[in-house]
Amino acid sequence: MSRVEKYVYSFNGEKTEGNASLMNLLGGKGANLAEMARLGIPVPPGFTITTECCNAFLQSGGSYPKGYEDQLEEALSRLEANMELAFGDPENPLLVSCRSGGRQSMPGMMETVLNVGLTSETIPGLIKKTGNPRFVYDSYRRLIMMYADVVMEKAEGIEAVNGNGIRNQLEKILAAFKETRNLQNDADLTEDDLKTLCGLFTERVATVLGKEFPDSPVAQLEGAIGAVFKSWNGKRARSYRRIEQIPDKWGTGVTVQAMVFGNMGNTSATGVAFTRNPATGENTFFGEWLANAQGEDVVAGLRTPAPINDATKRETNKGVKSLEATMPSAYQELESIRTTLERHYREMLDIEFTIENERLYMLQCRVGKRTGTASLVMAMEMLEEGLIDEITAIKRVKPHQLNELLHPIVDPDEESRAQCLTEGLPAGPGGAFGHLAFTSDDAVKLAKTHPNVILVREETNPEDIEGMRAASGILTARGGMTSHAALVARGWGKCCIVGAGDIAIHPSMKKMQIGDKTFNQGDILTLNGTRGRVYEGKLKMVDATEDSRFQSFMKMADAYRTMGVRANADTREDALVAKNYGAEGIGLFRTEHMFYSAGADDRLFILRKIILSDTEGERKAAVRELEPFVKEEIKETLKAMDGMPVTIRALDPPLHEFVPHSRAKQVELAEALGVDLNEIKRRCETLQESNPMMGHRGVRLGISFPDLTEMQVKAVFEATAELAKNGHHPQPEIMIPVTCDVEELVFVRKIVNRVCEEVARQYGLAAIVHKFGTMIEIPRSALRAHQMAELSEFFSFGTNDLTQLTYGFSRDDAGEFLPTYLEKKILSADPFQTLDPLGVGELIKIAVERGRETRPDLKIGICGEHGGDPASVRFCFKAGLDYVSCSPYRIPIARLAAAHAAIEASETKK
Ligand code: ADP
Ligand code: MG
Ligand code: MG
Repeated sequence: MSRVEKYVYSFNGEKTEGNASLMNLLGGKGANLAEMARLGIPVPPGFTITTECCNAFLQSGGSYPKGYEDQLEEALSRLEANMELAFGDPENPLLVSCRSGGRQSMPGMMETVLNVGLTSETIPGLIKKTGNPRFVYDSYRRLIMMYADVVMEKAEGIEAVNGNGIRNQLEKILAAFKETRNLQNDADLTEDDLKTLCGLFTERVATVLGKEFPDSPVAQLEGAIGAVFKSWNGKRARSYRRIEQIPDKWGTGVTVQAMVFGNMGNTSATGVAFTRNPATGENTFFGEWLANAQGEDVVAGLRTPAPINDATKRETNKGVKSLEATMPSAYQELESIRTTLERHYREMLDIEFTIENERLYMLQCRVGKRTGTASLVMAMEMLEEGLIDEITAIKRVKPHQLNELLHPIVDPDEESRAQCLTEGLPAGPGGAFGHLAFTSDDAVKLAKTHPNVILVREETNPEDIEGMRAASGILTARGGMTSHAALVARGWGKCCIVGAGDIAIHPSMKKMQIGDKTFNQGDILTLNGTRGRVYEGKLKMVDATEDSRFQSFMKMADAYRTMGVRANADTREDALVAKNYGAEGIGLFRTEHMFYSAGADDRLFILRKIILSDTEGERKAAVRELEPFVKEEIKETLKAMDGMPVTIRALDPPLHEFVPHSRAKQVELAEALGVDLNEIKRRCETLQESNPMMGHRGVRLGISFPDLTEMQVKAVFEATAELAKNGHHPQPEIMIPVTCDVEELVFVRKIVNRVCEEVARQYGLAAIVHKFGTMIEIPRSALRAHQMAELSEFFSFGTNDLTQLTYGFSRDDAGEFLPTYLEKKILSADPFQTLDPLGVGELIKIAVERGRETRPDLKIGICGEHGGDPASVRFCFKAGLDYVSCSPYRIPIARLAAAHAAIEASETKK
């Protein structure tokens, strides 16, 4: 007989089979429950069914693998023995929860069913045993609600009409019932109320779903386990996985666990906490709790929970009673478990707990989601505390998380003068302003035309994620710091305010009210997610000031980094920003930028004269006229980056881009050139190209109009000579774009050499130090790299064009089909965002190899937008590039990504 696999792992005070390292097999929840049980932390006993069982179940269309049934039975008996209760027993009934848990946490995406095992037989027994009928009926109505939703509806693939699923319907019954009794809270419902509600619930379930609510404990358990497995393939879970790039094949585990009850009365409670503040990173125990409630109440945002301790109270909740003050001994125990867990995991953890009649139980722990700011603060503090080492600290901050630190906050000055509309909890950091949308769909739609949208919801649920993603900021009227909105926003580093209770939202009318003010869809609000404040209109945003912790973190990361990081910058101002963010040079200075910027009218006018001149004489004169402007611009930037390399690219775009379109400008030009308007129009038209991106541009212009090349080179050398004579150390690198053959470089190089000598002589210098190189952005030049390197001292991969030309996708037109490609999984990622390692990457590798064969000290970098994408930076490191160059605001991200790549490489070598 073949050996059967182990599908069920028990955990309890005496014998625990799993541990935290079995994350893939047991899911995060199951693995960590086992780990806590091993640490001697009070955890209700139970067992976890593996993700492999889930995969087998889903693949076979709903049957369990061999051996599973026996293992389940055995684990259940062990649990019964452990609890001294029996599942389905009329006198001593065991109730369990069936909980989902994948490798990586997917907040609220999959399902959990609590109180499984309550039936007409066990209810009286439990009432007798506890003497608490209210609690029993409260548990039963919760079971009906969750079970009907998860097992009888969702798992059966029943699509609710108009989104009005069974859960929603039962919630409406509950709300209506409370209203007729004039009750505020679920906790105010009496035993009789709850009993009546259970009757109403089961009736509604039978009419809507056409099936009786199951009255057998075994049927309930089987149904719940299968439904949790199926929830892996639920609509929400799938869409979340797509966004977070979690593979479909991971599957979920199911943990079946003895119930402990936070809803037994006022000495019972439930709560959620973080071992440190997940928004700021501050080392304070931070959490929320509710008396007489069951777990999901806190997360669902149905009642606004209270802070667990007095230290973390805020202006808005200072009146409520903390857990610390209400149940001091349970709180002390919780606090000591916090310490045990942090020391053990050396991480900030997100924990769930329940208190049953003053006895504390831990129900979950996992590495907590946090903002980028918090990541950095915690990493640095844990390093100081000796909990982790430098490399761990560096790895704790994901490069993209830095984004948020470099992102805007509300200008404190302007904020201090603004009138605060209302306040909520500061759930996601930074500032955001935007046009209001009241549904997820509206937010997605609005975001297509308006870059800044604020999504306002009563509370969010997993169905809102597309809209939350599209929004710049999220505002909810209900929910606490651990509500769905808060968790998701923090995970994404998005500005978010929750529980702003003064807001009355009317989604169907696309409006809301704050006090006596009404706001409609499209109106603008500003959120300060760091302080939880809401303002009318648009407030100014400023860059988060760089604090010293950020600086020392970056410095520490830099010590491990081996690849250089430069900036794409076209002006002195950009260069200074880049330097401030740690750029070690400029990898791309686009000469043409000086004609687009504000106040560029004079230069643009001269350039247009060059472009539209008809005779060589006319053109030469205009070119001479332009030179001082180009020189000045280059000089400013070289000076700003003194001592660092600045790669100056020769004029790149097709000339037609600069041609005047307005009649007034055309008239002006006609006068300047002394020709008539129709002639100007004709000349403009002849410049039209049907495919300008592949037309008369880049080096091709420099070859058609050598005097244009000469002028630019002269500007570079004169700027350099003047700076050098003044004691500066300019390091210009002249870069030729859009090349496909070495002969192009031969042609340009001759001009460069000649001009260089002329300028040196003119300034009385022995030589002018510079480098000459080419962009590699046409596949042919990558393939001919060994020859290109004969003339080039450096290569810089222009990966935007290289991607365009490798795929044959026009970047400007890809919007029409790329989304479909991604949705249908024909491509796994947008190659314009993340460097394609297979095709474009192959060309890069070829060019690196062939180029260095010719010239071993060839300097190689990348200057496409990929230079700021962490995955692409990693690729560049592996391909052996000397540096990446990216937008100034992405420099810290690239620095950290490069440090991670270097650390990773040295770790795999070991
Ligand atoms: P999620 O992954 O959505 O957080 P959980 O499986 O953690 O779902 O369960 C939802 C809520 O039910 C949590 O607050 C949890 O603490 C609570 N819960 C789960 N199992 C039990 C149990 N055995 N006893 C008491 N509460 C439970
Ligand atoms: Mg949970
Ligand atoms: Mg290009």
